[in-house]
Amino acid sequence: MPGTLVIGASQAGVQIAATLRELGDEEPITLIGEEPHRPYQRPPLSKKWLKSELVPGDVILRTREWYDGQRIDLVSGDRVVTIRRDADGTGLAMTQGGRQLAFDRLALATGSSVRRLTIPGTDFHGVHYLRDADDAYALEAALHDPANRRVVVIGGGFIGLEIASVARSVDKEVTVLEASPRLVGRVVSEQTSAFYLAAHRRRGTRVVLDARLQRIVGGAADAAGRRSRVVGVELADGVLIPADLVVIGIGVLPRTELAIQLGLEVAGGIVVDAHARASDGRTVAAGDCTAMPNPYTLGVPGLTRIESVNNALEQGKVAASTLLGRPATYASVPWFWSDQADLKLQIAGLSAGYDHVVVRGRPEDERFCVLYYRGGRLISADCVNQPAEFLAVRGALAKGHTIPPDRAADMSTPLKLSVTEPVAA
Ligand SMILES: Cc1cc2nc3c(=O)[nH]c(=O)nc-3n(C[C@H](O)[C@H](O)[C@H](O)COP(=O)(O)OP(=O)(O)OC[C@H]3O[C@@H](n4cnc5c(N)ncnc54)[C@H](O)[C@@H]3O)c2cc1C
Repeated sequence: MPGTLVIGASQAGVQIAATLRELGDEEPITLIGEEPHRPYQRPPLSKKWLKSELVPGDVILRTREWYDGQRIDLVSGDRVVTIRRDADGTGLAMTQGGRQLAFDRLALATGSSVRRLTIPGTDFHGVHYLRDADDAYALEAALHDPANRRVVVIGGGFIGLEIASVARSVDKEVTVLEASPRLVGRVVSEQTSAFYLAAHRRRGTRVVLDARLQRIVGGAADAAGRRSRVVGVELADGVLIPADLVVIGIGVLPRTELAIQLGLEVAGGIVVDAHARASDGRTVAAGDCTAMPNPYTLGVPGLTRIESVNNALEQGKVAASTLLGRPATYASVPWFWSDQADLKLQIAGLSAGYDHVVVRGRPEDERFCVLYYRGGRLISADCVNQPAEFLAVRGALAKGHTIPPDRAADMSTPLKLSVTEPVAA
């Protein structure tokens, strides 16, 4: 009678519960998440939400009526703190709020949490992170406060750059501090990084690369000992960058604490196979918290952890099917998007291990693609304001097809007309 326990009520967890019902599962389902809100989408939090263009109803994933109608027991605002699973497969999870949740099927969809900056001063008033709805409420208010004129964003990855774009759109003076020699360097090619550097500078954002941070500086605490406001960020060379608001976006870490309690293999994420099965062969896991051998590395060995909505949804569907004893195989082309000002980036595939790129179009026109190749075969593309080209690449990758590099640069032919079967090695 215990049924399925899904821990983590966000993109992956809600998808697992929804797919279980779609596949005809009649057993009880409990979906528990520690956030006090009904499950919602995170991507708008660094985009339209910060511009005050949305209300909570715009970002929720499913209505209360939907959970009731599907007989999914949604528990919000409580965290599973301990968990055990017995040899017969049944188990018990205990929550901070004192709940005891018995289960005979278990799905972990615990996602990721922000990586914290470890320099002094991160606790001054006016220093923000952005991961969840409460962070977004606080940052939205701070960005629209006229007293906060100068914004420093620490981290030039996608989230940092999206926040910088919103801050510029509401006329803040914005500085982005990036520790590495280029923006979004972990994910995209030098060409795409260089484009974003130029595009953000064109829009009036100051970008400092190779930034070495010393500390975040604040004023003195008040007489009551209350923490004071941030006044700037000091670099290792002693330069102080003044700031009324500091936003830290330096990446996320997978939440693996429950997997570790269960004795599951963890290596940069909860290790799962192509069926979303963890190392005990019966727990499933999906979304940001997992590391898996992704078919779209196209032969590059090792595990891949993907932080994207698409991955959470696709892996969630696979996990649900596996829980019901009908293991499906993860086969979806990874894709991702980022909106910065009027620049819509769409990425298809995984570029790890590329040995050649083709730039199609002129980055200075703010409409172009960078296509990534390995051994002459297309493996991925970054497309800026080129949705049709993105779809052509995604479609080609899904069929195991390629676009010959010499044809990729030919702007007179749409990419979809250049898709061919790969030549056998
Ligand atoms: C600001 C922002 C912008 C983004 N923009 C994009 C974008 O443009 N495109 C894109 O593809 N992706 C984007 N992402 C990434 C995307 O949102 C994530 O990849 C996606 O949310 C992953 O879903 P998930 O369900 O795996 O994990 P999460 O969304 O991290 O959810 C995990 C949930 O589990 C809960 N949880 C964890 N442990 C416990 C526990 N022990 N007990 C109870 N609950 C627990 C957490 O509180 C959390 O609510 C963005 C993310 C952020 C933060």
